Amino acid sequence: MSQIQGLLKPHGLLLLGAMRISGEDRVPDVAESRPARQLLLIGNGGSSFWQVFRHSPEFCEGLADPLDRWSKRVGETLATELGGRAIFPFDGPPYLPFLSWARKTGQVLASPVSMFIHAKFGLWHAYRFALAFSEQQDDFPAEAEFKSPCLGCKDQPCLEACPVNAFTSNVYRVDQCMNYLLNDTGTSCRRQGCEARRACPVAREFTYLLPHAKFHMDAFVKSHH
Ligand code: SF4
Ligand code: SF4
Repeated sequence: MSQIQGLLKPHGLLLLGAMRISGEDRVPDVAESRPARQLLLIGNGGSSFWQVFRHSPEFCEGLADPLDRWSKRVGETLATELGGRAIFPFDGPPYLPFLSWARKTGQVLASPVSMFIHAKFGLWHAYRFALAFSEQQDDFPAEAEFKSPCLGCKDQPCLEACPVNAFTSNVYRVDQCMNYLLNDTGTSCRRQGCEARRACPVAREFTYLLPHAKFHMDAFVKSHH
C-alpha cells in the first residue's frame, strides 16, 4: 500500500482515480510557481467512510453541510502532510470540472441514470476531494480504461425502477424527481435512496448502508427546498 493509500485508510477514503494534468484541465497550481502535474481523485467506494464520518465532530454537532466540512478538514490535513493541494467539488461558483477529471482517469463512464459508473464500485461511489501534486506520484498507474457494463445491460433495470420516469432521452428530470420526493416522505426513495441506483446489478456488494443512503437523500431534498 502506498503512503497516500495508508493515510486515506483511517478516514475510510479511497483513491478512485489518477490523471496526468495538461493545460486544458483547469487544475489550479499547487502553489505559486508550482503548476500541478498529477491529480488524484479521492472519495468513497460504497459506505467506506460512513462509520468514520458519522462519529466525527462535523456530523455530531448538527450544523449545516457536515460532509463538506468533514471533507475540507480531512482533505486539507492530507494535502499539508503530503505537500500537495486539496481541491473540493463544492467550492464555488465557479466550480471546477470534477466530472471531466473523473472521466479522464479512465475509471468511470457515463450511465443512463445521470451518474458515472465506476470500474470497481459501479454507481456506489462519490468524490470528496482531489489532491494535486507538482510531481508525479510514483505509485499510481495513470489512466486505465474499462468497458462499460451498461453496454451489455439489455434490460437497463435502472431506467425501469424510477417511479416517475425521471430519466428520459438521456436527460435527468430533476424537477420530476424532486416533486415526488417532496410530496411523500414515506417512499422507498426517501427511506433507502434512489430506486434507480439500487436497481443496478453491478457492484451490488457496495450498495450504500441505509443510514448513509438516507443521509444523502435528506441532504439532496434539503438543497432543493
Ligand atoms: S442497470 Fe445496467 S444500464 Fe443501468 S447503470 Fe446499471 S449496468 Fe448501466
Ligand atoms: S430518487 Fe426516486 S424519483 Fe428520483 S430519480 Fe431516483 S428513483 Fe427516480
